[in-house]
Parts: sequence; C-alpha cells; structure tokens
Amino acid sequence: MNKQVVLAERPDGLPKSSTWTFQETEIPEPKDGDVLIKQHYISLDPAMRGWMRDVKSYIPPVGIGDVMRAGTVGEIVKANNHPKFKVGDFLSGWGGVQQYTVTNGKGYFKIDPNKAPLPKFLSIIGMPGMTAYFGILKVAELKEGDIVIVSGAAGAVGSLVGQIAKLKGCRVVGIAGGKDKCYYLVNDLGFDAAIDYKNENIYSGLKKHCPDGIDVFFDNVGGDILDAALSKLRMHARIVICGAISQYNATSRPKGPSNYLSLLVNRGTMKGMVVFDYANQYPEAIEAYSKWLQEGKIKSKEAIYEGIENFHDTFLRLFSGEKLGKLILKVS
Ligand code: NAP
Repeated sequence: MNKQVVLAERPDGLPKSSTWTFQETEIPEPKDGDVLIKQHYISLDPAMRGWMRDVKSYIPPVGIGDVMRAGTVGEIVKANNHPKFKVGDFLSGWGGVQQYTVTNGKGYFKIDPNKAPLPKFLSIIGMPGMTAYFGILKVAELKEGDIVIVSGAAGAVGSLVGQIAKLKGCRVVGIAGGKDKCYYLVNDLGFDAAIDYKNENIYSGLKKHCPDGIDVFFDNVGGDILDAALSKLRMHARIVICGAISQYNATSRPKGPSNYLSLLVNRGTMKGMVVFDYANQYPEAIEAYSKWLQEGKIKSKEAIYEGIENFHDTFLRLFSGEKLGKLILKVS
C-alpha cells in the first residue's frame, strides 16, 4: 500500500492534526511513458506552510484533497517505456508526502547516490543549498569585508549563507534560538558571533557584535528581527528577503517593518528572491559546494526523523525550532 498525507483543510495559524488526513491507497501502476518511484526521504520546508494558503503566489496552492506537496528523493522501482529513466535510477523532484509516486518524469532529475548520501540532495546540494548560494552571492551581491547578519542562522539555508560569507572573507553574525544553536554557529561553523533571539535583546546584540553597522542582512525570519536589523544599516546596505518564518502562521496581517526609512537614509536596498529563478545556474552552485565539501570548508547537518505517520509532529519542528539543520522525514 501507498501511505499518503493529504491536505484536508486550510489552517488558520499553526497547522493542527486535522489539517491533513493520513490515508493508504493501492500502489499505482505506471502507464506508458511513466515511472513509479519509491520515495526514501521527504523534505520538510517552511515554504510548505505558504503553499497551503489559497492566495496568489509564485506557485499555485496545494488543493484540498491533494497529496501535500514536498520535495523528495527516491528510487525508480517500475518503468513503463520511459524515454529517459530506468529501474534503479534515483530521482529528486516534487513527489509529495507519500511513499510512492507515479510520474512522467517532468520536473524530476537523476541524482547519483554514490556522489553523496541521499539526504544531502534535499539539503546542501538541494533546494536550501541553492537558495543560500544564489541568495548571498547574487541577490546580496556579497563583497569581501562585508559585515553580514543572517537570521534563522542554524537552519538549512542560514547555516550555509553564513559559511559562504565566511569563505568570501566577511564578518558574519548569526541570529538563532537558544544557547546550543548559538554555540554551534560559532564553534562548529566558524561564525564570528551569534545572537540568541530567544534569550537576548536583538538590538543590544546587534550593537555589541556589529558596532559599525551591517552591510548585508540575509533574512529568513521577518517580523521584529527584520525591524531590528533595519536599525543598524550602513551606507548602501543590502537586505535579502528570503523568508519570514515568524509570520507564516500569523492569523492577522503579517507584521511589516517600521524602521524602513533606514533604507532611504542609507541608500539601502531590500530585495525578494525565489530560488527557482536560478534553476538554470544550479550546476554552478553544485560544483562550488562539491569542492568546498571535498576540501572540508563547509558543513551541512540534516535532522532526519522517521515515519510518514509522524509527518505532522515533525513538520511543526520547523516552527518550534526543535531540530538542528535541514529537516527531513525518512519514509522507507
Ligand atoms: P530552517 O531554518 O531549517 O527551519 C526553520 C527555523 O526557523 C527553525 O529551526 C527556527 O530556528 C526558526 N524559526 C521558526 N520560527 C521562528 C520565529 N518565530 N522567529 C525566529 N526564528 C524562527 O528552514 P530553511 O529551510 O532554512 O528556511 C529558512 C527560510 O528561508 C524560511 O523562511 C523559508 O521559507 C525561506 N526559504 C526561501 C526560499 C526562497 O526561494 N525564497 C527558499 C528556501 C527557503 P530557531 O531555533 O533559531 O528559532
């Protein structure tokens, strides 16, 4: 049987157990030109919360009754005259929160499990890795010597953003929740300093660690943290709006920045990004990461939990912060 997680209702606030239905269906047969993929790992991403909203976005919302959209890696177990893929190939794509997916292969690409463990294809050499690479290098237009702040710093994207900025000769300060995560940023990943937003005042932390202000703020969190960073901009500072996880479960309008006139005074820019815009440049990032990994210059951590039945509880770790690194669910 194929175990699946289906969107049952649109959540108001934090998703509840009634948000999704867990169901078992027959394993589908691939039609002519299709393949059947047995999924091994499912990526749990903050963006999934956005895809549940019935609003205009960069991608259509998940429909009620549809399998919850998610990135996956898995292995082809049946192929029916597929022109490109065969049994035994490993594919990365949008297989959804289910154990088996039938597809014509559109949007899927072949990965080599001998090159890296499968979870890495959802992490550093997957979507979060691409986001960090193009976000900090192309959108922020990073320069050597920049003073860089990154929020959500111990997460999948933030941890890579900070490490890339260090590799490029910048001073890097991370913002994360809790002592252990801050210790990890400085002692394991080589950040210059970290601010524990759950136990410290952000404004005092920024004043202490960035007395000369900020050149780049890479924001994954939004809300109060974005506002605090705006108050410390240097001339021509760049802010990358990558995400705003603090606002994703808001039941009223998201909190906007009140310190935005700092952009005017400092001739700063604030720019949004969507990683998919860089899809044709992914090979460049994969090559760079492969080299840095080989040379031991960059680290990526995956927080892997087991069992598709545990999807709901595991997904909520994105918002509670009870995980370190890229959140992944092992489903077979
Ligand atoms: P992640 O950081 O691995 O996981 C989310 C982390 O956010 C949690 O571990 C938690 O860490 C922190 N967090 C949760 N609620 C928070 C709050 N209220 N205030 C402050 N921090 C909070 O997730 P990710 O995959 O790296 O994604 C990071 C951001 O990038 C998300 O906003 C995501 O939507 C965005 N993103 C954007 C794109 C794009 O193309 N624009 C692509 C990928 C991801 P703490 O323990 O530190 O609180």
